[in-house]
Amino acid sequence: MIKHDINENRKVLQAMYEDCALCPRNCHVNRDRALGYCGQSSEIRIARAALHFWEEPELSGACEGVEDPRGSGTVFFMGCNLRCTYCQNYEISRYVATDPLHKPQTEGTDVQQTEVLSESAAGTKACSGRAVTVEELAGIFLHLQAQGALNINLVTAFMHMPKIACALDLAKSKGLKLPVVYNSSGYESVEMLRHLDGLIDVYLPDLKYLDADLGAALSHAADYPEVAKEAIAEMVRQTDTIVRHLVLPGHVRESKRVLSYLHETYGDRIRISIMSQYTPVGPASETHPELNRRITKREYDRVVDHAIAIGITNAYIQDRAVAKESFIPAFHNLLIL
Ligand code: SF4
Repeated sequence: MIKHDINENRKVLQAMYEDCALCPRNCHVNRDRALGYCGQSSEIRIARAALHFWEEPELSGACEGVEDPRGSGTVFFMGCNLRCTYCQNYEISRYVATDPLHKPQTEGTDVQQTEVLSESAAGTKACSGRAVTVEELAGIFLHLQAQGALNINLVTAFMHMPKIACALDLAKSKGLKLPVVYNSSGYESVEMLRHLDGLIDVYLPDLKYLDADLGAALSHAADYPEVAKEAIAEMVRQTDTIVRHLVLPGHVRESKRVLSYLHETYGDRIRISIMSQYTPVGPASETHPELNRRITKREYDRVVDHAIAIGITNAYIQDRAVAKESFIPAFHNLLIL
């Protein structure tokens, strides 16, 4: 568990930026001077901070019979260490810091990484977010609480957890009482997660696929399945965990494998969110034409039928009507409280 002396905590965690291994890419760059795979400096940039009403009902407060959900106090951070070809938030996941002091690491970088960084540079036109200090971020958390948020929901936060942990400590010292949700791709370092023990109340990771070839083709990470499995095990060890699985068009068999693995491994200790909302956005349609459509009702029904057949009862199932671009936040319209 991380220490709760704010000043000491800031010092210890800040040191993690100097030889960055905050995620499984293990770039070992000094984030004050160079960029790693994620393209993020040590500066926190956020794309959006607002109440969000389309998370799982227990997080947003939205459910049948509730007309005025309070919403999840969601903070979207810029950048990502995966940048999946079909990313539903591609406008922000492709962001690469543009400060001239921060150069992409090219020495020892493989071709795939270089390609991802140049692909990312093109994405910077869509949304560059806003830089915030630790103090400003703590203020945003408190403002979300004042707005009635049910929780603080950190979306793709791993790159900045040293500073975000400090912002949470600071906000708590000023009255933040809300539970903290850690919303993640699942591609996380177990060692970094151990530093969050006691700080996070609900983990909300994806488990995208178990097939290494799919991890390589769609997420630039052949090790995605093994890394995500270990990360989820650590999350479940620590606290309440909801695992999301987004059903992709043409990949029903893989979805069934994922659900079987989760149920066999964790049973009812986790909740599973079976998501139907895949929408073809971003560059996936050019590189992977099979992803250039929404999933069919039959595909989703086959996945849900499998979940029922193997005995999963602790699950969220989505109305396919949510598969609309309007349910993806408009990141180019910067909305920060
Ligand atoms: S957080 Fe970024 S710089 Fe650090 S290891 Fe991960 S990808 Fe590399």
